[in-house]
Parts: sequence; C-alpha cells; structure tokens
Amino acid sequence: MLNDNWKLYKSAEADHEQKVSQSKLKKKLNYLINVFAQEYFAVLLADFTADSVEIARISEPVVPLLAQTLSRSSTYDAFLDFYCGQYIVEQEHAEFMRELDRETIRSRLRSSGSYSISSHHMYQERNCPAEITLIDVSDEQNGSECIIAARFIEDIVRQQTALKKQDDMVKTLVQDYNAIYHIDLDQDTFMILQAHNVVNEDLYDYTYRNMPFQTAMKKFVDEMVREEDREIMLRLSSCAYMKERLKKESGYSYRYQVTPLRGMQYFEMRIVRTRTAEDGNYAIMTVRNVDETAREELRIQREIERTNRELKKALEAAERANESKSDFIANVSHDMRTPLNAVLGYDRLALETDSDEIRTDYLQKIGSAGETLLSLINDILDLQKIENGVTTLHLSPVPLRAVIDGILTNVRPLMDAKKIHFTLDDSGASSAVVEADAVRVEEIFINLLSNAVKFTPKGGEVMMSVECLQETAKEISMKLVIKDSGVGISSEFISKIYEPFTQERSEETAGIGGSGLGLSIVKRLVDLMNGSIEAESRLGEGTEFTVYLTFKKADESNGLCPAKEKSDFILEGGKILLCEDNEMNREIATAILEKAGMSVIPAVNGREGVEKFLQSGIGDISAVLMDIRMPVMDGYEASKAIRAAGRPDSRSIPIIALSADAYNDDIIKVHECGMTSHLSKPVDPGRLLQTLQKDIVKAEQEGVDIG
Ligand code: ADP
Repeated sequence: MLNDNWKLYKSAEADHEQKVSQSKLKKKLNYLINVFAQEYFAVLLADFTADSVEIARISEPVVPLLAQTLSRSSTYDAFLDFYCGQYIVEQEHAEFMRELDRETIRSRLRSSGSYSISSHHMYQERNCPAEITLIDVSDEQNGSECIIAARFIEDIVRQQTALKKQDDMVKTLVQDYNAIYHIDLDQDTFMILQAHNVVNEDLYDYTYRNMPFQTAMKKFVDEMVREEDREIMLRLSSCAYMKERLKKESGYSYRYQVTPLRGMQYFEMRIVRTRTAEDGNYAIMTVRNVDETAREELRIQREIERTNRELKKALEAAERANESKSDFIANVSHDMRTPLNAVLGYDRLALETDSDEIRTDYLQKIGSAGETLLSLINDILDLQKIENGVTTLHLSPVPLRAVIDGILTNVRPLMDAKKIHFTLDDSGASSAVVEADAVRVEEIFINLLSNAVKFTPKGGEVMMSVECLQETAKEISMKLVIKDSGVGISSEFISKIYEPFTQERSEETAGIGGSGLGLSIVKRLVDLMNGSIEAESRLGEGTEFTVYLTFKKADESNGLCPAKEKSDFILEGGKILLCEDNEMNREIATAILEKAGMSVIPAVNGREGVEKFLQSGIGDISAVLMDIRMPVMDGYEASKAIRAAGRPDSRSIPIIALSADAYNDDIIKVHECGMTSHLSKPVDPGRLLQTLQKDIVKAEQEGVDIG
C-alpha cells in the first residue's frame, strides 16, 4: 500500500516536475521569441517531426503575406515550397530549398544549435537581401522543434546606423563634461557613466569607487573644492536634498572653484532627475569645467559694473553742472542787482537833491556802479564764451616786452592809488617777438595783479617776475610769478579759487568788491594757451601765483612796424555820420561829439546811413560811427555798401563800429566788412575821440583829402 502510494506519489511528483519543466521551457521559448521579434519581421515555429509550421510573431507589414502563405500550406514542406516560389528570387530557388530542407536543417542544427543563411526576397516588388536564422529549440517531449526568424538586411543596417548615430550623439554630448555619474539616491551609491579629461581628480579616482556616494562626495569636496564653496556644495549634493529638490525641479546647478592648489579653476556641477525614475530615486550628476566661460562672464560683469559706475559719475557730473548753472544764474542776478541798486538809488537821490555838490557825488557813484556792472557783464560773457569753446586765440607777432608794458600800464594806476610797493624783475625776460594773443595774455596778468593789489593792504608789497626758462630757435618757455604780501588764502579755499563766483570773505576782505570770476577766466585762458597755473598762499602772509606759458617765436620780418601817427589833427569842425537806432545812445554820442566841436548827421538804421553818405559831398564826412545791430540794414551790410559805393572817399573814409558785441570774433567780422576800428559799448568818451582822431589822421596820411 505504502509502496503503491509511494509510486503514486512519485508519479505525481514526476508529472508535476514535468509540468514545471514544461512550463519553464515554454517561458524560455516565449522569451526567445520575444527577443527575436524585436528585430525580425517574422518568427516561425517549425516542428519537423510533425511536419508543421506556425506563426510565433510577425510584424505588421508582412502579416497578410505570411498569413496568406500559411493558410495555403498545412505542412512545413508545402509551406517552404510555396514561400520559395512566391517570395524568393528565381536564381536562388534551388539553393533556398536545399538549405531549408527539413533534413538539412536538422543535421546542421544538431551540429551547431543555430545558424543563419542569406537570401534575396522579392518584397513589395523590390529585391531585398534578407537573413534567415534558425535555432534549435527541441526537447525530449516536443521532438525536433526549431525557430525560424527572418529579417531584412536593410533593417539591420538601418538599425545599426541608428544605434551608431545614437552612440555618436551620446559620445559628442558627453565630450562637454568632465564626468557623469549615475546616483542611486535611496541606496547612496553611484556609478561612473563617463569620465575623461579629469584635470582635477574627482569621483572618478579609484579611491572613491567603492565608497557610498555621500562619503565620496565629502572626501572630494574637502580635498578638491575651495573652502568658500564646500558647505553649500555638500548640502546641494546630499541624497535627501536631491530627492526633495528633484521632486519640484528637473535639475539645478552650482558653480564652484577648486582649491588654489588645483589652479582655482571654475567647475559646474549639475544635478538632474533621470527620466526613468519610476522604480526608484535616481539622479545624474554632471561635472564640467567652465573656467573660460566663468572668467569671461566675470569680465563682462566687471565691465558692466565699470560702465555703470562711469554712467553714474556722468549723471552726477551732469546734475552738478545743472546745479552750478542754477547757482551761476543766482549769483549773476545777485551780483547785477547790487550795482544796479546803487545806480537807481543814487539816481533818485540825485534828482531830489538841490545841492550841486551832492548831486555830483551821486553821479560819480552812479558812474562807478555802472563800471562795476559793465565789468561783471563782460566777465560773465567772457567766461561763458571760453567755457562753450567759442573763444579762440588770435595770434599775431608781438614783442614780449610790449605785452609786459601793456600789463603794467593797466595796473600801475591801481598800485599808485593804494600806495603799493611794486617791484618788477624782468631781467630774465626775453626780447623775443612771439606769436601770442596779446589781449588775452594781458588779461591773465592784469587779473592776477589787480587781485594782488585788491587783497593787499595799503602800502603792502606786490612783486612780479618774468623768467625765461628755455629759449630755442622756435619756442620760448616763460615762468611768470606774481607775489603779494596781502591777506592770503586759506588752505580750504585754495582748491576752489578757479570755480566761478567763489570768494573768500573774512574781516580782512570785507568790503572788497569783485565777482569771483576773475580767476575762473584766468585759469581757462591759461588752459587755452596750453599753459599751467599754480597758487600758493598762507593766511596773513600773502599769495603767490606762478604761470607757465610757452610761445612760438614769430618770424620777425612779419610787419611789426606800426605806422607813425600824427596826433596834431583837431577834431573840431569835423562832420560825423552817426548810424544808431537807439535814441538814447544817439543822444549820448551826439553830445560827446558836439562837445568836441563836431557836427553830427544822424541816421536811424544802416540803409539811411548809406543814403546819407551817398547824398553828402565827396570828403564832406570825416568819419562814420556805425552801430552793428540795427533794424532794416545792420552795420555790417551798411559798411559793405559804403565801401562798395565807388566814390573816391568810399574806401578810405574811417568807419568805426560801435557795438555791444565785444569779442575778438566780432572784431574780426567788423574788419572783414571793411570797417576801420571797433569800440565796445558803453562807449568811453575819451576812447571814442581818441579813436576818431587816430583813424581820421591815418586816412588823411594815406592821401585822400577828406577836409
Ligand atoms: P574776485 O577777485 O572778483 O572776487 P577772483 O576769481 O579773481 O574773483 O578771485 C576769487 C577769490 O580768490 C577772491 O574773492 C579772493 O577770495 C581770492 N583771491 C584771489 N586772489 C587773491 C590774492 N592775491 N590774495 C588773496 N586772495 C585772493
């Protein structure tokens, strides 16, 4: 019984084992078929014992073809026959039939287990090379079974090309990285996917290979990364952090520098989520040398910062300029109001008083306030013109000595009035003739000397020295010093002295007039002449200004011989054509001229002036006083018309311009229009008469009878 049971048990067990092994075999077969099906268009299962064939897998495009074939043939031989006739190119029929003959297959499989043959299929009217692979899957129960799988060679080539492309692409992409790691965030392990050009050893180094990822990272960071980046880098690469962050973002980067020992190069680590992470938490970490880019970015960043700083500076400068313009206007109006107030106040007082003596005093004060106003206006206009670059130097040959004399003539009266003890050391001055704008050079030193006088108490000392530093055949370099024993300038103020409207006022300087424009003009003129100016001063001890100027030497043959003037001409009895549109100015000029014994022909504009000249007899008119800005025809046009009139006296008659435009440029234009001289308004009576006398005498000397 036991025995029977045992047998029964054994047979059940054997049965079970057989079933298990059969099911295992089935699984293996299925697996094999599935693997083949990925690359082969048809996978068939042939049973040579039973002489049958069935479809295991076929790909879509060939379904109708094989289904049709198999439905027509029940046995393997019939299938082979039909298939060969239908799909194999004719030349290969015999060979195909031979190679796939049941017996041939059996014997070849028996010796090698699997093999492949090539054949040419006619598929979709094309001759397609194909490969047929045969694999023995026989077992004891199932007899001789065989997998027959067919694929087109084109597909293989296509597949291989695609694979190769993919491979190339990956290889190219990873070129940019120094290393790529695959990290298992749950297990804290890592795998090296790519590592090359590892300049600064990293996790690729064998010492790290078997470490947990975070331990390896810690060792790497401590040894290779510069200190400032360590903490943040470790935090960003901890598994817990990566897991959390990659839930929200697909990736993130961090740029770090390696230790000074490794050359302080910049690297970038980037951590990204893997695309196939359903079955776990994985990340890819790439490491890239970004030194060049980072340094270039830094350079650009610095450049931008520098540009921004410059822009800010320019903006501040513009704002300052704007502010100082407003200050300038405020200062101008204040400084103009003061003398104007005096003019109007004394005018009212003069009208009200009965005393001739007091009236004369008031009128003198009005005159002096007027002078102040005039010099202020001249200074402001001068400064503006220099600042706007309108002022140009008008160079002409002039002996240096004459320039010095010109300066002294202007300042001597001031010195005398204040009983200043003045010394001039011009022993070092050259007698050279230089190319200079004498008016402007004189302006510089008259300003400096009058300041020295102004800020030095009565009876004080003022000294001027002229030294020739270097004289060559072409140039002469001068050093001019003006020193006084006056009140001096404080060290805080000295840096501001060349700014317009700056004045240092103290007990000592209280009541001293001025606009604070003189030194601004001086500095700008010196700059215009490519020279330099220095100031040194001590409060209570005095001030010293040093000016360095270099002049080109003039060619002395260039007419330096002024015409000798005869001054014995008497203006009395002369007739003056006065072209002036402003009634008051006409009245003033007429009064001056009549007082000097002359008669006046008035004209209210240029055209009337020209007409009256043409109506006069030849030589009747001694000279023309010509205002510049007039309605109908201005002074320039009128002068040109007189000069072009074609009368014997039209070219020689003196025409003296009277204008408020008191600049060199205007003076040049005056001469271009044929006028003889220029006087700026308000006209000083003495200068007017002097000029008239000089010009009339000159015209007479040139041989035209104007009497
Ligand atoms: P102004 O003389 O019309 O005030 P400046 O521009 O010529 O204007 O001079 C500016 C200021 O510099 C003066 O107001 C004065 O405070 C100071 N300064 C110039 N020259 C001297 C000097 N020689 N001694 C003392 N202070 C001077």
